[in-house]
Formats: sequence, C-alpha cells, structure tokens
Amino acid sequence: MPEQVQPAQVQPDWLQEGSKHLWLPYAQMRTAPTPLPVLRAEGARLYLADGSSLVDGIASWWTQAHGYNHPHIRDSVSAQLGKLAHVMLGGLANEPAMTLATRLAKLAPGDLDHVFFCESGSVSVEVAMKMAIQYWINRGTRGRTRFVSFRHGYHGDTMACMSICDPDEGMHGHFKGYLPEQIVVPLPRDAAGEAAFNDMLDRRGGEIAGIIVEPLVQGAGGMKFHDPSVLRFLRQAADARGQLLILDEIMTGFGRLGTMFASEQAGIVPDIMTLSKALSGGTLPLSATIARRHVFEAFLSDRAETALMHGPTYMGNPLACAAANASLDLFEREPRLAQVAAIERQLRTDLEPCRALKGVVDVRVKGAIGVVELDRAGEGTWLRPHFLKRGVWIRPFGNIVYLAPPFVIDELDLRQLTSAVTEVTALWSRERA
Ligand SMILES: *Cc1c(COP(=O)(O)O)cnc(C)c1O
Repeated sequence: MPEQVQPAQVQPDWLQEGSKHLWLPYAQMRTAPTPLPVLRAEGARLYLADGSSLVDGIASWWTQAHGYNHPHIRDSVSAQLGKLAHVMLGGLANEPAMTLATRLAKLAPGDLDHVFFCESGSVSVEVAMKMAIQYWINRGTRGRTRFVSFRHGYHGDTMACMSICDPDEGMHGHFKGYLPEQIVVPLPRDAAGEAAFNDMLDRRGGEIAGIIVEPLVQGAGGMKFHDPSVLRFLRQAADARGQLLILDEIMTGFGRLGTMFASEQAGIVPDIMTLSKALSGGTLPLSATIARRHVFEAFLSDRAETALMHGPTYMGNPLACAAANASLDLFEREPRLAQVAAIERQLRTDLEPCRALKGVVDVRVKGAIGVVELDRAGEGTWLRPHFLKRGVWIRPFGNIVYLAPPFVIDELDLRQLTSAVTEVTALWSRERA
C-alpha cells in the first residue's frame, strides 16, 4: 500500500517559522502550499517528518544519478571535508578540481579539453556565451554578439540565459524588452526547416556569436524530443559557415539519455559544452563549461585583454569537485547506463496505457525520461495531491507530467511511479478532460 502523506498534521517548528521567511522558487507565495519537510533521503526515496516516504520521480530536478546519499560520494566528500573544504582557484590549486578537469577532458567528446568551473548551470551558460562573444573579438571580428536558440529551449534563469529561452513557453515573459534580443527559431526538423535555418544563417551570420541547443531533449521548456539527425544538421550548418555550436548538456549529460553525453548519439562534437545537474552526482552545486582546443586557443596571446575575464568566488570548490570525482568513479564501476536502458524499457511499457486517455496528446520516452503530455496547461495544482496520496513525488509543469527518476531506482519503485502516473492521469481524464 502506498503510504499516506498528511503534511498538515506534522509541521516541525523550523518549517512553520522558516515558511514565513523563505522565498520559494517559481511560486506564488500567497497560495503556494507549505513545502514538505524532508528529513533524509536514500536511493530513490525521500523520508518526511511524519515518518512516511515518497518515491522521487524527478530526482531533485534530474540531479540524482546514483540515488540519494550514495556511500561512495558521501565518504569522498567527508574525507575531503577533513582536509580542505575550500580554497580560492585564483593562484591556488586543489587536487579535486585539477583531477576533475583532467577526467572531464578525457571523458568529453573530441577535443573538448578545457574546463571552466562554476557553481550553477545558469552561470555555466553565461560563461559559454561570454566565451563565444569574446572568441570573435579576440579573432578580430566585431559585431558577433547575438545567439541563435530554439523554441521550447530552456537554458537557465539569469539575464543572458533568459534571453535565449523560449520567449513564450519560458518563465521570463516579463523581461521582454529588457533582455538582449536573440534569434529564437524553430528547431529545423525537415527539409523546409533546414532551408529556412540555412537562409537565416546566411542573412544574419555576421551578427551571430553562436548557436545554442539542448541536445535530443529540450527539458524545462516542455520536454520536447528531437532526433540525432537534427544535431548533425546543426553541426554541418555551423561548420559550413564557421559558426560556433554550443550544446547545453546540463540536463542530458551524465547518462540521462543512455549515453554519457547526448551528443554521442549524433556523433558530433560541439565547440562548447555546458554541464551541471548530475555532475556532482546531485550532492553539491557545481557546473562546467568545456571548450574545444580552437576556442581555448583564441584566448591565448601576449595581451592581457584577450583573457577570459570570469571567476566565480567558489569556482572549483574542492568538496563539490570531490563529489563529482566520486560520481565519475560510480559511472565507471556501476552499470548506470544499463540501468538507464532498463528504466527506458519499463517506462515505454508502463506509460503506454496513458496514450488512449482523453485529454492526453502524447506519451514519449527517451532514456530515463518519460513524458505524458496533456492537452492543457495549469493542471499541476489538481494533480499534485493525487500523486502525494500514492506515495510519489512528481511535479508536473505546464501541460507536462513527467518522470526522470534516479538511475538506481528498482523495478518496484519505478512501477509505483508509473502506476501513479497512469492512475492519476486516468482520474484526471475522467473528471477534467
Ligand atoms: C537546469 C538547467 C539550466 C540551469 O541550471 P541551474 O543550475 O538551475 O542554473 C540550464 N540549462 C538546462 C538545459 C537546464 O536543464
């Protein structure tokens, strides 16, 4: 039996006091429900203050590749904490950061060899954009300051990142007019789309610093999928015109789609790649912007002003890098990618019944992501309590109900998630569709 959740009955003091002061993410604070108090987490389960547990269907925003509280990551971070919790990266080196840069350079496709660390995904995208703009300046080309990005894209919440998100689907409509104007176009999925895209590049190429895309799955902008052929086309279109291609692998990186990086499935190498989310195994904030050799070399000269002028205070934090090194150990030692393949098979079978429901417009699965798309947005408030009643943590957004569990989830816990999705969607279909 799924455990019952009754958040109203158990409210620790810290929750009541803190709720008066803590400003929640993406929430209307007047009506936002009090968040659920999580005391600990293990594997795919969250343990709440009232003694119940929830199976986590979204892996804390897709970060928990190895499940919560993995002993190897915990031990590595503890050992590092005993020696050196933090030291600045300006002028001082720490072993976990150097080792992680070396390992990421080896792991990343092609000659993506130069690693710049930040603390959040958004900032790693900001750095990628700065790199691309300065790449052209350093090469003596002026006026290349705009980015080409795509409908349904999501690249983060900071200012430059907002400017390359989908302007309508995104959560940033208010800032139109304030943000730099970018070139946001549909993903070229067929011959007509490709022709229109090439035409745009030919007309506006001189303004463009780079093309940025989330490979294979556009995440927070609507969980839209595309084929590897789209990425191969973008690579060719960029190469033919000397444009930079940036892949934002913040969500797709580290196995989520069945390969370490999504770009591997297209056999392409981007000029710049951003990573975060599962980079530290979901334990500490960390991100990386990784550049190919030719991008890095554009910053080398005898003049100080061609250097990349960026340096977050906590960049290369030893604890976060120790966690990431431990996470990479686990990818080497444990069958993560096979687990993703098994999750993919089960999601395909288990979610299929949703397709026949009235009000469901699509069911799709790629890697460890399963999506049920509804015919209308804004149903989250109705859906969420029904999920909690079934002992699962699932957070629909827009018109999307999705699962992206930790890779270590077992068959039964995954079935609890998929049953909850099929049951609740069926209920929604009967009562609301
Ligand atoms: C989450 C995400 C970001 C932003 O990362 P934050 O750590 O939330 O700043 C950027 N791009 C993609 C594709 C993401 O999924």
